[in-house]
Amino acid sequence: MTHKAVILGTGPAGLTAAVYLARANMEPVVIEGPEPGGQLTLTTEVENYPGFPEGIMGPQLMDDMKKQAERFGAEFKRGWVEDVDMSERPFKLKINGMDDVETDTLIISTGASAKMLGIPGEKENMGKGVSTCATCDGFFFRDKKLVVVGGGDSAMEEANFLTKFASEVQIVHRRNELRASKIMQDRAKANEKITWALNKTPVEMESDGMKISALRVKDNDSGEEEVIETDGIFVAIGHNPNTEFVKGKLDMDDKGYLLVEPGTTNTNVEGVFACGDVQDAKYRQAITAAGTGCMAAMDAERFLEGEAAIDWSHTLS
Ligand code: NAP
Repeated sequence: MTHKAVILGTGPAGLTAAVYLARANMEPVVIEGPEPGGQLTLTTEVENYPGFPEGIMGPQLMDDMKKQAERFGAEFKRGWVEDVDMSERPFKLKINGMDDVETDTLIISTGASAKMLGIPGEKENMGKGVSTCATCDGFFFRDKKLVVVGGGDSAMEEANFLTKFASEVQIVHRRNELRASKIMQDRAKANEKITWALNKTPVEMESDGMKISALRVKDNDSGEEEVIETDGIFVAIGHNPNTEFVKGKLDMDDKGYLLVEPGTTNTNVEGVFACGDVQDAKYRQAITAAGTGCMAAMDAERFLEGEAAIDWSHTLS
């Protein structure tokens, strides 16, 4: 059986696309990958998603979006995409544990995963003082002392943003030189609330049993370890878009983000659309992802409608 639309990924982009396609009677099949619900399931309370004046827990928001899509007939399947043949339509997907899936249109919303340090205490304390998103979680740290790890533009931006709430933000970076652009560095250096711990490698995140209490770092010259007491640690060492499975098949930038025709979700392969963080290194917000999910659904629907119109005129001639 060939489906009209298959959606890969169940973050805000994929689920919004599913709601729109299901309501348009496109009977979308949605493949839930290794992180069902996407990055929002790693946060606690979401206060900046419009429509929830009291805020909503990230996992709850994703669960609600899924139920909304199911209500209109979206079908969810759990699996890992191993290969996609986009050389001709219908596209063919190899998904572990399933028969091959064929589809007329494909929406890629596999998101991006924040890079993590991989040190002890990090995973266990996600949402308990460890975060990868200052915009999402900064508000919870009013008058607190924070650490931001990283030396790129993201780290500078997150640190600057966090000074709106925190009493002090210390940037911990593994080298003496920052990778960030000069303007972002200058802005951070001019911010009196920002302090620096350069040339230090994070070794372990410590907790008081309930929440983060310190980051232990090692000085790269002396090898000595030092404990930086903190109420929260923001890891800002970059993101990896989840595009490995389409490498060499779809146009992407040098970091692996999918390229779309500006103002649309069209990739370079007709009938394949990309939405959410997998094509957005800049905004990376739930609401922007959801917005592009809506766009992808409409682009897919109109693409099939356009084809139907063409087929119909052929029949007449
Ligand atoms: P990035 O430029 O790749 O920087 C990542 C930083 O994290 C680097 O300083 C790197 O250290 C450090 N790092 C990476 N892995 C690490 C590890 N395992 N342990 C410790 N430190 C580690 O990533 P980004 O800052 O997210 O920026 C990504 C892109 O988005 C860039 O092109 C950036 O310009 C752009 N961006 C722009 C803006 C803006 O203009 N407003 C804001 C955010 C992002 P090293 O330096 O030692 O490699």
